[in-house]
Amino acid sequence: MKCNYCEHKCDLTKGKSFCGMYREKDGQIIEKYPDKWCTYSPSRIESVPFYHAYPGSRSMIIGTAGCNFRCKYCSNGFIACQDPANVQDVMYEFEPKKLVEMARKLGCHNIVFNVNEPAISLPSLLRIKKYAQKADIPMGCLTNGYTTIESTQILADIFSFVHVGLKGFSDLFYKKYVGINNIAPVLRNIEALAKRCHIEIASPVIEDVNDHELYDIAAFIRDINPDIPWHVFRLLPEHNMKESVYPNIERMNSALESSRKFLPYIYFHNFVGSNWVNTLCPNCKTEVIKRFSLGCSGDRLDEFLAVDNTCPICGTKIAMLGTKLAWDLKRKHAKEVV
Ligand SMILES: [Zn+2]
Repeated sequence: MKCNYCEHKCDLTKGKSFCGMYREKDGQIIEKYPDKWCTYSPSRIESVPFYHAYPGSRSMIIGTAGCNFRCKYCSNGFIACQDPANVQDVMYEFEPKKLVEMARKLGCHNIVFNVNEPAISLPSLLRIKKYAQKADIPMGCLTNGYTTIESTQILADIFSFVHVGLKGFSDLFYKKYVGINNIAPVLRNIEALAKRCHIEIASPVIEDVNDHELYDIAAFIRDINPDIPWHVFRLLPEHNMKESVYPNIERMNSALESSRKFLPYIYFHNFVGSNWVNTLCPNCKTEVIKRFSLGCSGDRLDEFLAVDNTCPICGTKIAMLGTKLAWDLKRKHAKEVV
C-alpha cells in the first residue's frame, strides 16, 4: 500500500517509509507516533519568520520528528534528520485539546508548526485544528511543499498561513542538496496553496550554488502574486555543509536588486542587524514596518506604522493577513520571550 501524504509515495507494505512516521494497518495509513511533539514553546511570529501575518503576535511553536527531505544544510537536523524511532524519549505527548489549552495558557495568539515537515504529521495536526478552530486560534506552518495534490489540500484545510521553502529553482539543485529528483511538485503546490492560504516563501541562498537562480525564483513568485513576501536567507553552513563558506552579504543582496523592481516584499536576513528586514510601501517606499534581525535567534517587530495595514503617507494597502494587535510594542518587548 502506497502512502499518499508526500510525493515520495513510499510503499508501506515494505514496512518502512522515508520519513519513518507512517505505517500501514488493516489497509489504512496511520501515524506511528500520534500526538507526540518535540516542542511547544512561545516565539515572536516575526522569528518564524512570518512578516505579513498577524504582526507582533505570539506563536506557539510545535514540531514533531523526522522529515521527507534530507537537506545538506538542515539547521534542525538534530530532530528532523533522525529516524523518529530514535528520539521518542525526548518527545512530549499531548492530546490535541491539551495542546490548544497550552497555547492559551502561554498567551499565544496562534499555533505554528515549525521544526520539521507538517506533511509527515497531518492526522495529528488535523485533530489539533478541530480544537484550535473552536478556540479561535489560527494555525500556520512551514512546509517544503513536497506534498501530493490531495495532502496539499489537507494542508490548506488546517493552516491559514503557510511559509513554503523554495530552496532553489532547478531539479539539479534539489537533487544535489535536498535529495529529491523533481522540483515540479513544489512549484505546483505553491500555486495551489496561494489560492487558499496566506503564503510567504523562503529561499536559502548559497553562494555560487543557487544565487544565480534568485531572479528566476522572484519572477515565478511575481507571476503567482507580486504581493507574496519572499524571504531570502543567508545560508549558514550547517549539518553536512560545515565546510562551506558564509555567503557574502553585499554580493547576495546586490543579486536581489533587479527583482525588487517587480516584487515589493523581498527580505534578506538570517544574520544579525540585517538592513533588509523592514517593509517599504510598494508605492512611495516609506518604511511602514520596522523590524530588527537577531540572526539565528529570530527577528523582532520594532515599529508598526501601517495602521489598518495602510501606508500613512500615500494610503497604499500593505498586503497583510490580520492586523497588529493593539498593544504598546515597547512595553511588550520588556516582557516578551526571545
Ligand atoms: Zn506609501
